[in-house]
Amino acid sequence: MASDYLLRATSKDGSIRALVATTTNLVAEAQRRHDTAATATAALGRALTAAGLFAATLKDGESITLRFIGDGPIGGIITEADHAGNIRGYVQEPHADLPARPDGKLDVGGVVGSNGYVHVTRDLRMREPYTSSAALVSGEIAVDLSNYFLVSEQTPSAVSLGVLVERDLTVRAAGGFFLQALPGAAEDVIRGLEANVGLMPSISAAIDQGMTPEGILRLALAGIDYEIIGRQELRYHCRCDRDRVERALISVGERDLREMADDDRPVEMTCHFCGQRYEFSPDELRQLLARATPPDGEKHLHS
Ligand code: ZN
Repeated sequence: MASDYLLRATSKDGSIRALVATTTNLVAEAQRRHDTAATATAALGRALTAAGLFAATLKDGESITLRFIGDGPIGGIITEADHAGNIRGYVQEPHADLPARPDGKLDVGGVVGSNGYVHVTRDLRMREPYTSSAALVSGEIAVDLSNYFLVSEQTPSAVSLGVLVERDLTVRAAGGFFLQALPGAAEDVIRGLEANVGLMPSISAAIDQGMTPEGILRLALAGIDYEIIGRQELRYHCRCDRDRVERALISVGERDLREMADDDRPVEMTCHFCGQRYEFSPDELRQLLARATPPDGEKHLHS
């Protein structure tokens, strides 16, 4: 299968930004890692694709986190992507599933819920990460994000996300596009874009039929002078490692860590994002405890 990639394009006058991605492989990997049911796969896949698209608008070294917290059975969806095309994510209830909707589509809105919020956090490295939020509209992910951009960032955007899941739960096709009218975009250009978007086929069906991001871009930006300014491979990649897990364990605090160490049994930690397991022997826990225990002087200050 062709690898996942993203194209970045702008209109020649710079007023329109377009991002298109195929994410079939990385969504398939997420499905395998998290053992998600069909509807949960579609919800997670859309959110992973969205994170990848939005991260492409950031600068080198920056990253974005999307959190969808609704009142549906999936509980919550967290996805992250960085500017280099590394994407990861998880859902609270991977087995959340619902019967298909009357039109045959997976009921993503039902599984996410329409009461709740989408939170978008940008980590721009040099500053504190900042988060902005908007109420969910339908829980279908793409509509919620278009609304987020309009309400929270005052930028008219079109977001389309699609995941096609096979009966055996494997992922057949996934991808999406993200179009933004930047300040200064002419009214007739925006209307032309809206008309193009209205004529677009379902994104997952288009990718399933072999349409490339180049082809999708041609449809989305028909009638607009544009150029492709970047191409990037996308992949499911988790940045967890033993060192980070050790720091997380230390941060639970001296008392809890001492309890674990005194238990004299190995402790297993699992990464939410990728399912990787990390085991710590009682000896290793005691070493971590030594690192967690502040020097005497400091201890007195805090007690
Ligand atoms: Zn991980």
